[in-house]
This record gives sequence, structure tokens and C-alpha cells, in this order.
Amino acid sequence: MSARLIDALVDFLLPQPCFLCGANSAGGPLCKACAVLLPEPGPYRCRRCALPTFGTLTCGRCISRPPAFDASVSAFEYRFPVSDMIRRLKYHGDIYLAKQLGRMLVDVASVGSVDVIVPMPLHRRRLGERGFNQALELARPLARASGLPMLVDAVVRERDTSPQAGLSPAVRKRNLRGAFGCTRSFAGLSVLVVDDVMTTGATAEEFARTLRSAGARRVENLILARTLPGR
Ligand SMILES: [Zn+2]
Ligand SMILES: [Zn+2]
Repeated sequence: MSARLIDALVDFLLPQPCFLCGANSAGGPLCKACAVLLPEPGPYRCRRCALPTFGTLTCGRCISRPPAFDASVSAFEYRFPVSDMIRRLKYHGDIYLAKQLGRMLVDVASVGSVDVIVPMPLHRRRLGERGFNQALELARPLARASGLPMLVDAVVRERDTSPQAGLSPAVRKRNLRGAFGCTRSFAGLSVLVVDDVMTTGATAEEFARTLRSAGARRVENLILARTLPGR
């Protein structure tokens, strides 16, 4: 039996309740009524960093200081109820939620020019504590739907840099330098990086720099939720 068929069967036999109200959610994290609460991003977003713009394609910050990555897309803003779902996924190990949210990434991803998918790696100590990498779990449905290869151990997190919260942008940047290492060449490849949350973009920046120094031709970020400034 194919993995997709097994998936459909499990959804049918074990319907998961809506994250908010407990009603049948038909394979998604929320039922139809609660889905209107999803914090979908506004129409104008910077194609480079996924922050809102005033109608331009690229924001002023990315024009004046272009990041090491070429593009970013986020499915949602980092707000309720997606913020709560991500917390539940990360700290309560609700892997099923990763699958449901990962399917929502499939809907917003454009993989036409992508060669490989790379989930943002966790440091092995954190992986040991948590038991899974949420970015990898989120990326699985896309890897399956697109048929693109997913490189899981191609980049490793050599230093445990988190938590970054509460640090100034300059300190974050310094902390991250040399945080990642590639175990293979990315020469000529267009890479899609999948992660759960992008906050300042400092981690994505260092990750993209690492991929580029390993030869990547293009780096795009696919993010479940983007934190807006001031939140
Ligand atoms: Zn509901
Ligand atoms: Zn931007």
C-alpha cells in the first residue's frame, strides 16, 4: 500500500479533532468554522524576507541590505492560533499537528525551480530532548507531494545557538556565526529551506550563507509562520 493511501486511511479511521473547538476538522488542524481565524499574511509581502510591504515587491531593508537568501514565503503570520499550534507541536510533541500544518505548507510552496528540500536542522542535544525535528516533520508532506529529494543530514547544527529570544540583533548575528556546517556540496543547486518560524531572519541568513559557501546557486525559505516586527 502506498504511503499516501495509508495516510488517507488513517485520516478516515482516526479523524483528528479541530485544534480549537474539537469538532471534526477533515484532515486539517482546524474545522471550517475555526479556519477563518488563521492569520493569513496580507497581500503585499516582501518576496525576499516575507515581511509586509506598502505595495512593493521588495522591502526597503532588503533593498538596502540584501540578505543571503533569494526569497521567502510564509504560510501565516506568527499569531494565534498558529503560534499556539507551533508551541504544542514543539513542546508537547504533537507530531500529528506537524503533518496537518505541513500540508498547509504544500499549498503555499512554489517548487518549480527547486532542486532539493533542506529542513532547518536542530542541534543534536535539542533533537535528543525533543525526540524529533519540527522543521523536518513540517517538510515531509511537501517532499512527498513534490517528489523532490529531502536532504536531512546534509547540513548540521554544530553549536546549540538557541534560545535567541531577548538578544539584540547584533548579538544574535555574532552567536550564529559558524553555527552550521555542510556535510556535502550544494554546487549549482537551488535549495528550499523549510522552518517553522522566522523571527529576525538571523538564523535564515546564517543558514543561507552556509549553503552558499557550499556552492548553492539559489536559497529560498519556506516558513510556516513569520513573526512581524513589534510582536
Ligand atoms: Zn473548530
Ligand atoms: Zn524584505
